[in-house]
Amino acid sequence: MSESLKESLTDRFGRTVDYLRISVTDRCDLRCVYCMSENMTFLPREQLLTLEEIIQIGRCFTELGVSKIRITGGEPLHRRNILSVFEAFGQLDGLNDLTITTNGTQLHRFAKPLADAGVTRVNISLDTLDANRFKALTRNGDIDKVLNGIDAAQKVGFKRIKINAVVLKNRNHDEVCALVEHAIKRGIDISFIEEMPLGVIGDHDREECYYSSDDIRRDLEKTFDLIPTTETTGGPSRYYRIANEQSRVGFISPHSHNFCDTCNRVRLTAEGRLLLCLGQEHSVDLRTVVRAHPGDDDTLKQAIREAMEIKPLGHDFDLSAKPVIFRHMNHTGG
Ligand code: SAM
Ligand code: SF4
Repeated sequence: MSESLKESLTDRFGRTVDYLRISVTDRCDLRCVYCMSENMTFLPREQLLTLEEIIQIGRCFTELGVSKIRITGGEPLHRRNILSVFEAFGQLDGLNDLTITTNGTQLHRFAKPLADAGVTRVNISLDTLDANRFKALTRNGDIDKVLNGIDAAQKVGFKRIKINAVVLKNRNHDEVCALVEHAIKRGIDISFIEEMPLGVIGDHDREECYYSSDDIRRDLEKTFDLIPTTETTGGPSRYYRIANEQSRVGFISPHSHNFCDTCNRVRLTAEGRLLLCLGQEHSVDLRTVVRAHPGDDDTLKQAIREAMEIKPLGHDFDLSAKPVIFRHMNHTGG
């Protein structure tokens, strides 16, 4: 089909949706304190979309104009046979960017097959460089596995590798310069994320631990010369270059610099709910659609088009209020 005839998804505020994030599982080998509670109940397996259903939905989205898919979770590399999804998406015409967000613990095994399948960019979560802190923040994770995973990703040569760090006051805010230094040494990018109030976590008071992107930038500017850029990777990060270095520093600031105006994305949860906004509950149950009409792409595509009508204008996160979004980030797909 010629470019001009290609369909695109547009919401009622005129925003084009060209980016789909898919959570392929709600399970994970870590229990990060901002993401999950210590004792999580995970979805029964039959409630998860099958790998074939995920592939069908992703393909239909690309036929409707989505050009970027990020696979996330839970921990996506925890889902059995997940490579088949990457391999199928890697073959799709019209998909320019196939990416993954991972905690990195299994990247030493998966880096090469992911690159072979066509994954272009990898985001790896790492909030601290201190092994004991890492254990505390992840409730028992082993930092060496993640560092080895980053090494493996660097060896296979993805187009871009980025560290994602959630920053909490008095837990890891004093490490932002060290984390940037680490990214510079590796020649990779880093983004700092403000914590979002998704789900009840039972570990800390989110308001007390809030450390804004402006706080982080102020800390970094004591050591680094940060140069603002208009560069974007199609996601919510605002980027700065560091003078004389290859690495970029990004800020994902849902509180201090809300990114809703230019929102171009929707999320598919592991159980097949299409979430139209990270911070609202507007959603459409695509699992019911694919199971009621097996193999029927037209019906599925129509449900996706109609879903655009309920994409809300934006989120209104309030750290001081009781949680209004009860789903955790591992359900949401970060
Ligand atoms: N398990 C993978 C990982 O950790 O990269 C992918 C899923 S995780 C939910 C995706 C991203 O969301 C991670 O970078 C994580 O740090 C971030 N995240 C989780 N809970 C969050 C929260 N409450 N606020 C902000 N970011 C959060
Ligand atoms: Fe697991 Fe990622 Fe959530 Fe950490 S942030 S608990 S690694 S899903």
